[in-house]
Amino acid sequence: MSDQSPSFERLVPPADGHRITCENGRLCVPDDPIVPYIRGDGTGVDIWPAAQHVIDSAVARAYSGRRRIVWLRTYAGLDALQEYGKDAVLPADTVRAIQHYLVAIKGPLTTPVGGYEYVCLECALEQNGDASGAPGHCAGCGSEWVTARFRSLNVTLRQVLDLYACVRPVRWFRGVPSPVKHPERLNIIIFRENTEDVYSGIEFPSGSAEAAELMALVSRHTGKNLRADSGIGVKPISASGTKRLVRKALQHAIAQGRQTVTLVHKGNIMKFTEGAFRDWGYEVAREEFGPDTFTEKELWEEFGGVRPSGRVLINDRIADSMFQQVLLRPDEYDVVATPNLNGDYLSDACAAQTGGLGLAPGANLGDEIGLFEATHGTAPKHAGRNVINPSSVILSGKMMLDYMGWQEAGELVVRGLEQTIEQKRVTYDLERQMEGAEKVSTSGFAECIVENMG
Ligand code: NAP
Repeated sequence: MSDQSPSFERLVPPADGHRITCENGRLCVPDDPIVPYIRGDGTGVDIWPAAQHVIDSAVARAYSGRRRIVWLRTYAGLDALQEYGKDAVLPADTVRAIQHYLVAIKGPLTTPVGGYEYVCLECALEQNGDASGAPGHCAGCGSEWVTARFRSLNVTLRQVLDLYACVRPVRWFRGVPSPVKHPERLNIIIFRENTEDVYSGIEFPSGSAEAAELMALVSRHTGKNLRADSGIGVKPISASGTKRLVRKALQHAIAQGRQTVTLVHKGNIMKFTEGAFRDWGYEVAREEFGPDTFTEKELWEEFGGVRPSGRVLINDRIADSMFQQVLLRPDEYDVVATPNLNGDYLSDACAAQTGGLGLAPGANLGDEIGLFEATHGTAPKHAGRNVINPSSVILSGKMMLDYMGWQEAGELVVRGLEQTIEQKRVTYDLERQMEGAEKVSTSGFAECIVENMG
């Protein structure tokens, strides 16, 4: 029986399984943890069952049935509308379940982009209402699941749950087509700040009273007059927000025996936000991880250019230079810590270098909670066709298993995936780029991974 469940409106906690807890910053994981999942919109219906099959098989094999995950279905996006009713795109139940059970995983969710009033959760088309108000059915696919525009559910989840580190490991799998000559040389893990910078979401439109007020303030304090028709965005970066992110990156680097943590910033232009990020990053390394770290200056002045063993180099790079570095000298980089917007660009660019988002996993971590997720979108045109590549959410599952301390199962997932790709049994996206490859379905791909776990 699960331990003291919170009160849910509709969710029914599983009758068996136990809750993962956290004591003094360490997760305590029972052999039958309850793990909430969100299937996701669009191709979530294809990739989630495939991932669940792979994760369950890896756990069963790694621990001979002694351990298993007890899944708890929770709802967001289209599912939530269908289960909870009109406009309930992110029910409180879902947030409460993740807060309570601490470790969760999700598929992609539709995010309205443009300035329309409504969005269809089946095909992601954005549209305005007609004279009578909301459109009855989607103008694109005819679906009835059209809902009022909302802010990104992914961003809301990260903010409500204070998941301040977006963690994106990037590595290449042998055989995956890549636009660069040596994709194997890039093997990095990006810690991107997840709550501040442009993700704080503070913006005022051109022509608004708030924008005018801010422009007047800027003019009073700096003497600079902004163009009167400017929209204004606020980019806050705090010492506490930066330090907890860099702390997590350093803890990871030290625990995993990584070589380097690089602070990526645009401090040459934005001194009190991006530049301060760099300074606060070095401060955490010096004050909290002194004996475990060294700087580039110390490398030459104290260690004669020879890296001291067992210590992590902390250095920094300007963001634009970093984009060159990951292409030209990828093997010099290892763990990266960076503010939100730089990290957004850098993680997708690095993923492209190793074969694209289809194979890139992700996690959103707070002090206790870990929410693992596919990094690509809902790809609605492929939804329900059993063709899409499920690797991103499968590898996010592998990250989740590692986070739970079930590394043996995580290794089986990677082994199964590596061998399946090497055998060239792949989904359409890779098959069209790989000579002599056999095209398999989403579920068929998952089956091959399970077969190849050994
Ligand atoms: P997308 O869903 O990522 O899909 C764009 C294209 O990328 C697909 O048509 C497909 O290309 C390829 N692709 C994506 N995932 C793939 C996979 N697993 N396997 C193989 N190919 C894959 O981007 P979008 O169409 O711009 O966005 C659709 C919706 O998803 C939007 O509402 C967007 O806001 C949302 N979104 C959500 C997340 C998230 O939840 N984390 C992230 C990004 C976007 P081909 O058809 O050419 O093969």
